[in-house]
Amino acid sequence: MIDMINAKDLLVTAYDEARLGLAEGGIPIGAALFDADGNLLGRGHNRRVQAADPSLHAETDAFRNAGRRRDYRDTIMVTTLSPCWYCSGLVRQFNIGAVIVGEAKTFHGGHEWLAEHGVSIIVLDDPGCIEMMEKFIAERPELWNEDIGVAE
Ligand SMILES: [Zn+2]
Repeated sequence: MIDMINAKDLLVTAYDEARLGLAEGGIPIGAALFDADGNLLGRGHNRRVQAADPSLHAETDAFRNAGRRRDYRDTIMVTTLSPCWYCSGLVRQFNIGAVIVGEAKTFHGGHEWLAEHGVSIIVLDDPGCIEMMEKFIAERPELWNEDIGVAE
């Protein structure tokens, strides 16, 4: 369904969304939903800070922006960072067939759990995504801890 080269192409959209979020003063996580042919269905980024909404994660934002579909089995969720439990739950709830993860080094979410349940997972270990998150976590630890639900 997807190979590594295609996966890297698809990641560009999610990465651009993350940069947009960073420029807005938010948490730099971006996502995009594609169909099996690589057509963009929806894109978005974490807007917890911008919208004062803790449920506005990147994957959720992209999913909402894609509008309604009858079936998500052939869709691909691309995200710059390993999906948290909330977004991993969204992937399972709607039966999204594949998830491309920019990186899982700075945060280890539910991608292995998704793989165990039949979701195709590609972890790219993308240096650009890692660098962006490492820099953000170092500069804004309070925002980051709030986002992942860790008390300081
Ligand atoms: Zn999430």
